Amino acid sequence: MSVSVPFFDWKQLYLERRDDYIKIFDETLSRGGFIMQKDVRQLEETLEAYLNVKHVVALSDATNALLLGLRASGLQAGDEVIIPSHSFLAAPQSIHYAGGVPVPCELGPDWMVDPADMESRITEKTRVLMPVQVNGRSADMDRILDIGKRHNLIVVEDSAQALGAKYKGKMVGTMGLWGVFSFYPSKMIGTFGDAGALVTNDDDIAAKVRAMRNHGANADKVIEKSCDIWGTNSRMDNLHAAILNFKLTWYDEAIQRRIDIAQRYNDAFAGFSELTLPPAPAQDPDYGDVYQNYEMTSTRRDALRAYLSERGIGTIIQWGGIALHQMSGLGYSQSLPKTDTFFEQSLLLPMNHFLTDEQIDHVISSVVAFHS
Ligand SMILES: *Cc1c(COP(=O)(O)O)cnc(C)c1O
Repeated sequence: MSVSVPFFDWKQLYLERRDDYIKIFDETLSRGGFIMQKDVRQLEETLEAYLNVKHVVALSDATNALLLGLRASGLQAGDEVIIPSHSFLAAPQSIHYAGGVPVPCELGPDWMVDPADMESRITEKTRVLMPVQVNGRSADMDRILDIGKRHNLIVVEDSAQALGAKYKGKMVGTMGLWGVFSFYPSKMIGTFGDAGALVTNDDDIAAKVRAMRNHGANADKVIEKSCDIWGTNSRMDNLHAAILNFKLTWYDEAIQRRIDIAQRYNDAFAGFSELTLPPAPAQDPDYGDVYQNYEMTSTRRDALRAYLSERGIGTIIQWGGIALHQMSGLGYSQSLPKTDTFFEQSLLLPMNHFLTDEQIDHVISSVVAFHS
């Protein structure tokens, strides 16, 4: 008997609670709840309480959240933004579209952005430091915020992957001037399409992004006689907000399931010298990881990947296996040897809350069999 374990079983995202979703669609659509209805504000309020942050602005996706956040922060043409090379293209693209220059830097031994390397790349053009909270874990924010303070730079978080993660008791995404979250289907809390949010304790940033998302309209009213900021359409579809409101009622349970799976993977694979595993849950009380991904490295990554594939187990290499500084087509030619080595060895195992115990057992026994 063989169990198949797709890396991410897209249809399961809907089928796991299909009856609930049908009711939500029917209730929301029957009252004409398409654009900027009560569900959007309800989502913002729920997330404001959950994250203990003053403002949440629901948006069309996290890529636009990054773009609007950078524009609201007053990024000027040519301003440099330092970002880990181990990041999704969305952040550098938004920096570029906001007129800035994305400057990739190295990862540290914890695989998060290396604060010392980040600091070494500061020039007189640097305006922003952007840690990326990859895999649902926080970078060393105390050090990054300290560098920002000493050099008078803005710190913002690409926390698209890290809703609910904690660092020294604080919620990831709320430690810098602003942070963003993604509700793309395969993210920590995914809807059935694109959605995202920007979060901030800064009244001015919140007001600007709120206006920008809806053609510059103040407080989301229609534009009457004038408009004092250039905006666009980056609204979150109301139906996504209704779905997310439901998913937030059992989000703690979904996170706990990921933590339990990570613990099982870590326990089972601890003895294999070819593998380097992510930190186990609760290994360091300063970090509350939520395991958006289970990313590990293997010195025989490609062979392991092929072996798992033969057993019906889907794995992926993050960001399609290419780091930002390796994008020669975008003009990069810089060398970041630690990130290069990491990308030769990195692998993501299946990780989401709807994996069954049988599927997890199959992943574990297959990885163990490969190494035995
Ligand atoms: C998914 C992701 C984004 C982009 O999110 P979208 O909602 O798809 O625009 C940005 N940064 C990181 C780190 C991501 O993982």
